[in-house]
Amino acid sequence: MIVLKTTKELALMKEACVIAAGALRAAGTAVQPGVSTAEIDKIAYDYITKRGANPTFLNYNGFPATACISINDEVIHGIPSKNRVIKEGDLVSIDLGATLNGFVGDNAATFAAGRISPEAKRLSDTTRESLYEGIKMAVAGGRVGDIGSAVQRYCESRGYGIVREFTGHGVGRNMHEDPAVPNFGTPGRGVRLLPGMTIAIEPMINQGSGAVKVMPDGWTVKTRDGKLSAHFEHTVAVTPDGPVILTQL
Ligand code: MG
Repeated sequence: MIVLKTTKELALMKEACVIAAGALRAAGTAVQPGVSTAEIDKIAYDYITKRGANPTFLNYNGFPATACISINDEVIHGIPSKNRVIKEGDLVSIDLGATLNGFVGDNAATFAAGRISPEAKRLSDTTRESLYEGIKMAVAGGRVGDIGSAVQRYCESRGYGIVREFTGHGVGRNMHEDPAVPNFGTPGRGVRLLPGMTIAIEPMINQGSGAVKVMPDGWTVKTRDGKLSAHFEHTVAVTPDGPVILTQL
């Protein structure tokens, strides 16, 4: 079921989204060679809880941390650990959510640890740019397929693979609501976009094939071919005035 939000509810949700965005920025700023992913996670946890919000991911389906931190060939859902130390040249994707006022803000970004290869930078830049291509299509009267096809075209034309087994999603009082928002699709097809819809658009883009595998920890998703992956996400509201990025600081 798709839940439309009133203007008042969007204002409450915006407050959650701003905390999620601030926590992501704080966590991303801490990405450096020599820092463990557990330390990054702690920064995100402290940021969210000090502002009276709850870390949405913590204990969600048993996930043990505030942030998913996924490095290089890890696509999503990496579990922070004090034993996982970031190295020079790593591509570090952080995904986190904050719950406040009964609403969830969900966002993600990929950060560079020190100097990264030109190939890694191109992948990360393209993934970020594709997110904004998708957001542009989040307009009332459009279709979910418009968003997916915009992301897909942007990335595939640059030689990258689209992860198809995981998608963006509606977000609101729950982290995962309808509709699914795939990073591929056909223009003019899929669920119609209506004012008051709030969706998380989140391209997960691979340097090689889009094929992925889930690791034995039950969470971490990696590329099958061992090549790099990047991930960017915003929570976006469809409004009469066009798309509004709620997780924009
Ligand atoms: Mg999400």
